[in-house]
Amino acid sequence: MNGRKGRHRLISGRFTVDKPQNEPILSYAPGTSERKSLKDELARQLADHLEMPLIIGGREIRTGDTRIATCPHEHSHVLGEYHTAGEKEIDRAIEAALQTRKKWASTPWYDRVAVFMKASNLLAGTYRQVLNAATMLGQSKNVFQAEIDSACELIDFMRFNARFAAEIYEEQPHSDIGEWNRMDYRALEGFVFAVSPFNFTAIAGNLPSAPAMLGNTVVWKPASSAVYSAAYLMRIFEEAGLPPGVINLVYGSGRTIGKQVLAHPDLAGVHFTGSTGVFQDMWKTVGANVEDYRTYPRLVGETGGKDFVLVHPSADTDVIATALSRGAFEYQGQKCSAASRAYVPRSRWPELWETVSAQLDSMKMGPPTDFTNFVNAVIDRGAFDNITEYIEFARTADDAEIIAGGGYDDSRGYFIEPTVILTENPNFKTMVEEIFGPVLTIMLYDDDDFEAMIEVVDSTSPYALTGSVMARDRDAIDVAQKGLRDAAGNFYINNQPTGAVVGRQPFGGGRASGTNDKAGSRWNLMRWVSPRTIKENMVPPTDYRYPFMDEE
Ligand code: NAD
Repeated sequence: MNGRKGRHRLISGRFTVDKPQNEPILSYAPGTSERKSLKDELARQLADHLEMPLIIGGREIRTGDTRIATCPHEHSHVLGEYHTAGEKEIDRAIEAALQTRKKWASTPWYDRVAVFMKASNLLAGTYRQVLNAATMLGQSKNVFQAEIDSACELIDFMRFNARFAAEIYEEQPHSDIGEWNRMDYRALEGFVFAVSPFNFTAIAGNLPSAPAMLGNTVVWKPASSAVYSAAYLMRIFEEAGLPPGVINLVYGSGRTIGKQVLAHPDLAGVHFTGSTGVFQDMWKTVGANVEDYRTYPRLVGETGGKDFVLVHPSADTDVIATALSRGAFEYQGQKCSAASRAYVPRSRWPELWETVSAQLDSMKMGPPTDFTNFVNAVIDRGAFDNITEYIEFARTADDAEIIAGGGYDDSRGYFIEPTVILTENPNFKTMVEEIFGPVLTIMLYDDDDFEAMIEVVDSTSPYALTGSVMARDRDAIDVAQKGLRDAAGNFYINNQPTGAVVGRQPFGGGRASGTNDKAGSRWNLMRWVSPRTIKENMVPPTDYRYPFMDEE
């Protein structure tokens, strides 16, 4: 009998999820159908004005306290307005998550992951150009950057996580004769707070959906500069059949919302990606509240980077040049993995610079709606001011020189030219601090000092996210690989330090770069379960005495 409220289900069988393939990247070359449908969708969204209510317990909530979402490359263009949450709405969102938790946590795992498998298919099909266009317009990404993010990476996150979840559930302990041991992979007891950054729509989707797949309910706060794609993303989750209350979407100031949410006794986890400072503040708040929580909250945070490219004299010029151009300037350097400091042997510099500067000269900058542009705008006024301050600092410094770019213009959108700074000082400010913009600093070193540079690379910055070594010489690769073991959670050989792919290069870093739980992997998903060990005794003892106690 299929009992009421699904108590007696007729399902028998150990279901599996096939190992997925990575979603193929579409080209958007002239004449392709994807190019046409994307252009149509861009036009539709540009002509539209999207209202973005909060989504709490499956209901649209309009607070009337609204802000506008604009295009970074054309700040006078309003894409829509979003409602911000006050104290009351935050309480409602937490309440909705807690009320939904029991039911969702006891929903069979295959029904939960099926929702996200469905969402991945919607995204691969009907919604692909909707989310790509939203990401291009709201976050100023060119077509390729949007396609690898809001389409491919997010589809991969959902498909691979479904597989990894199945693998976790499959992992069961050994049983001896007369007993049966089982692992019950429970959801965390409480709710998860997912806080996402502006720079990847895929991360915004993964932060709430990964814990939700494992049976958790979530309060999700996206970055205010990326609410536009978040609103569309929520529609996809809902259309895929996500039950009300599993993911509750709230907009507003991170500081205000964070303070309230982190103080709640039922906080069971934080799934964060963003800057190091914000994560450290959240950690401090959780530490200060630790006695008030019902359970120790899991803190998962992927944060900043100061990602390096270490070039050996044996490296191939075109390989280095392309790794620098793409690694530093794709998406205007606003990737946590962006190459932002490079160490180049003096003997290779003239030839390398000729190639890099030719590549820079050919890069076009402008709005993403013109597909010939490689570089678009940085995200907002705050980012523009911060990045240009670094540029001005370098312009007036005695121990550095701007050798390319350095110009910027915010009259129409927040545009900053790809900028290259040359220095001899390994501790020059822009060699150490995360800038999060299109600024690459290069330091030249004497060819014989390659091994000494390894120590410099390792000790210059507090971060340890990504890094590359460029070399043909096998010994050099080996020395760098060993010497930089703790300097990067994602280490590349003859590859730019960006562009990690789900299921192939699990992503995350150590030191100040985060808890290194590797987004889109089993290691991350393990943080969202609280395993219960069950032992069933088939031959329980019936006497407390042991044989050794018998008389001789
Ligand atoms: P951010 O830290 O400014 O914001 C991230 C999120 O935190 C936003 O939703 C914001 O509203 C929220 N927030 C801000 N203050 C808060 C507070 N006090 N309490 C709670 N939430 C708060 O980061 P950003 O500018 O959106 O993103 C850029 C940063 O993210 C860079 O430092 C980058 O390196 C990092 N990042 C890291 C990874 C990674 O995987 N390591 C990936 C992407 C981005």
